Amino acid sequence: MAHLNENLKHSAHLFPDRAAFVFQGETTTYAELDQQVEYLAAALAQRGIGKGDAVALLLDNRPEFVSAYYAVLRTGAAVVPMNPIYTPREIGFILSNSKAKAVVALAALEPVLTPLRDQLPDLQMVIYAGPAVNGLTIDQLISEKQTGFEPPQQDENDLAVILYTSGTTGQPKGAMLSHLNMDSNAEAMGVLFELEPDDRVVAVLPMFHVFCMTVCLNGPIRSGATMLIVQKFHPAEVVNVIREQKASCFAGVPTMYNYMLQLPDATRADFATIRVCCSGGASMPVELLHKFEEKYGVKIMEGYGLSEAAPATAFNPIRGTRKPGSVGIDLPGVVNKVVDPEGNELPRGEVGELVVQGPNVMLGYLGLPDETAAALKNGWLHTGDLARMDEEGYIYIVDRKKDMILVDGYNVYPREVEEVLYQHPAIIEAAVIGVPDEVHGEAVKAFVALKEVAVSQEEIVAFCSDKLAKYKVPCQVEFVPELPKNSTGKILRRSLRK
Ligand code: AMP
Repeated sequence: MAHLNENLKHSAHLFPDRAAFVFQGETTTYAELDQQVEYLAAALAQRGIGKGDAVALLLDNRPEFVSAYYAVLRTGAAVVPMNPIYTPREIGFILSNSKAKAVVALAALEPVLTPLRDQLPDLQMVIYAGPAVNGLTIDQLISEKQTGFEPPQQDENDLAVILYTSGTTGQPKGAMLSHLNMDSNAEAMGVLFELEPDDRVVAVLPMFHVFCMTVCLNGPIRSGATMLIVQKFHPAEVVNVIREQKASCFAGVPTMYNYMLQLPDATRADFATIRVCCSGGASMPVELLHKFEEKYGVKIMEGYGLSEAAPATAFNPIRGTRKPGSVGIDLPGVVNKVVDPEGNELPRGEVGELVVQGPNVMLGYLGLPDETAAALKNGWLHTGDLARMDEEGYIYIVDRKKDMILVDGYNVYPREVEEVLYQHPAIIEAAVIGVPDEVHGEAVKAFVALKEVAVSQEEIVAFCSDKLAKYKVPCQVEFVPELPKNSTGKILRRSLRK
């Protein structure tokens, strides 16, 4: 049975004295973590939390995320992870939509949660990580040291996590992921990256996002490896953690690699213990991949995924061929296919929508049967991403369907233009969008952040003209100090359009 709850117990049994995680220099062993989870689960269950309930987490990366996440699962309830910097309106929507019975939150959120409680009839309990004026704290619940709690009978198809994906239109949708969905993906990633108990995995991506949850939390716990928890991404601090804590695995989004690349004092020696780096969440510019690998002497494996697939569907393998620019091949047990609008598989090399099947594919969107039917058409998860596959089954993400720009009826994929911009020596970051154009329908506009070198719009246009067909060349270039990013570090083309 693939069940997240088995994993922590198993690792605590096999490796009680091994470090489950290190946070700010303090180590917590698997035995200690399992004990905390046991006490917390018992205290939650005693207050009525159990199977069929939802418990939200409003926490950043910290030990309490790990203990609360596994304690909620142990009670049989589902976890609803949320970004603690959401606005009160967003928090209210998700708590109400998921019918959360309890929320575990940062103490600093007390002024946000207290006024919301009157509008949330399902919400019975707020538990804070840290001292609170009114409300329980995690420490209080753990200090009750309740024992004798028997977890309910659990099935691998039980709901484990509800992930709210930032819908592009309307409200966010809650992707329902079962224990099988989550655990099969953590297992497949562990197999692919040969995760062993000796591994030390940096967890700096936000734990409330599924990339971190599967790769840096559930994966290490099921392998008995150690998480190196970093609260917030500061490039120099992350490099220090990698060096001082002898990290062996690093997972990040491309912008993180870009920031670390710019560090003037970091060297190969800092990365000496790194066995594998992986990138996902957004396309990794090939130029960036090469520069990072060259400077620090590591290998970056790019992969692809989405919340609805818990998340990974494809990755470059550490054994065998790694293809820069590609997100790799099917993850074990997962099938990716490129299809036309009618759902027919396209010949290799042709661009179409990427669809996915596997044990990692979500149960559906909470309370949204029409959206679920549209996303899971004919038993395949429709990703909304355009891709092509080569003869060897390597997948190349072309772009999101909705980001495609139409210039005089020709398709322009922002990613292709961005790849060229990243080759310019003065450009640190780049993103491309379509803007309305009276003559051509749409035109290509680039936003770039520069190193401390003065470059003109004309120079950038000329640079692109050498490498791209005329209709793909940006006709506007806007210089910005930095590109807008979400909390995971993904560049937000949506905000640029505004
Ligand atoms: P999320 O559900 O927040 O994890 O976002 C999933 C989306 O991120 C996918 O649908 C893709 O558009 C994008 N994405 C993830 N990995 C990659 C990648 N390696 N290359 C390009 N886009 C990616």
